[in-house]
Amino acid sequence: MIYLDNAATTKTAPEVVEAMLPYFTEMYGNPSAIYSLGSAGKKAINEARRTIASALGAKQEEIYFTAGGTEADNWAIKAAAESYGNRGKHIITTKIEHHAVLHTCSYLEKRGFEVTYLDVDNEGIVDLEALKAAIRPDTILISVMFANNEIGTIEPVREIGAIAGERGILFHTDAVQAFGQIPIDVEEMNIDLLSASAHKLNGPKGIGMLYIRSGLKIRSFVHGGAQERNRRAGTENVPGIVGFAAAVRRAVSIMDEKGRKERGLRDYLIGRIEAEIPYCCLNGHREKRLPGNVNFSFRFIEGESLLIMLDMKGVCASSGSACTSGALDPSHVLLAIGLKHEEAHGSLRMTLSEENTKEELDAVVGYLKEIVQKLRDMSPLYEDFMKAQKDGRRPAMGEEAEQGRNLQGDIYSREQ
Ligand SMILES: *Cc1c(COP(=O)(O)O)cnc(C)c1O
Repeated sequence: MIYLDNAATTKTAPEVVEAMLPYFTEMYGNPSAIYSLGSAGKKAINEARRTIASALGAKQEEIYFTAGGTEADNWAIKAAAESYGNRGKHIITTKIEHHAVLHTCSYLEKRGFEVTYLDVDNEGIVDLEALKAAIRPDTILISVMFANNEIGTIEPVREIGAIAGERGILFHTDAVQAFGQIPIDVEEMNIDLLSASAHKLNGPKGIGMLYIRSGLKIRSFVHGGAQERNRRAGTENVPGIVGFAAAVRRAVSIMDEKGRKERGLRDYLIGRIEAEIPYCCLNGHREKRLPGNVNFSFRFIEGESLLIMLDMKGVCASSGSACTSGALDPSHVLLAIGLKHEEAHGSLRMTLSEENTKEELDAVVGYLKEIVQKLRDMSPLYEDFMKAQKDGRRPAMGEEAEQGRNLQGDIYSREQ
């Protein structure tokens, strides 16, 4: 098996599992208990909080554990809206956020808030001038992700933090993809709220955190006991929290080396695909990109078919369309960077880890060449296109030319 879906989730690292085990088997006490079986858990939680805070340049008391990235996004945005709604009802976010942010925003729209969804450019980067122009006197929150989960584009978070800070607007960032992969400093970057999740950095599933800058009035998300300083009730997931911290410690210690290795593999894979598979296009920014992200659109084919055939070869990847209630919806991210529906449907995301090898990627390129050709040979669109090419006619997709796309040569680009 070749696992290339690390943006969806990662393998729990052995040292993380090892760190967690005692909290299932021996130190299972409730951290709120007085006896020492409980206080062992409490101690472990405090230590985990310190580890995670220091990885973000935050203070220990600014870290709140949640059940994952989705809960952290929900909490940050809903509570900021509720706590600061008396100042204004306008929120700014982008069209390429994770659904945990987008669906939370649309929930708030039904409750009297107005949301501006910023466009991004063809590489997925938010335009800072457009952001400034969108700010109104009643804007209370800006939520822009640190790095995109589909195309890997890294946003200008520091600049956004400065813009928000100068105007006294809260800044939330969904850093689920970035945390543990690239350096983050909440102070330097002027971040007020930050979401992260353990299972995206070789930690366990079902545990995440929200950083809340001290001094912010953010209401509790789950009401009940006094855990997490009254802000997130419920008996703490001690093994999860310990595992999260172990994963963060590991990620911080190997970040440079892991990043270097993944970038090398990433650029090798991108280079080979661009050189050897015609009519494909890299999605996302070439440099401002997560170390392990590769995302391509292949013309004339369905990403879903590609995935199924890759799976038969033992390759795990993901596509740019999501199957919701039996219908294929093209990815909102790929549409936002200007892809047409059929281009978005023909896309493939491969997200690498430091454990992948060049040999694995060579095998994947071999499979891809074979599968893409097989699928194109079955595509009537491709047949028309090739016929038109041969006759010297303009292909039956005039829109391409209108949009200024370059169909010459092997690679088409979306420069506009
Ligand atoms: C995975 C992911 C989430 C959701 O995190 P969970 O811990 O799975 O709930 C949110 N945002 C981004 C960008 C993600 O990649």
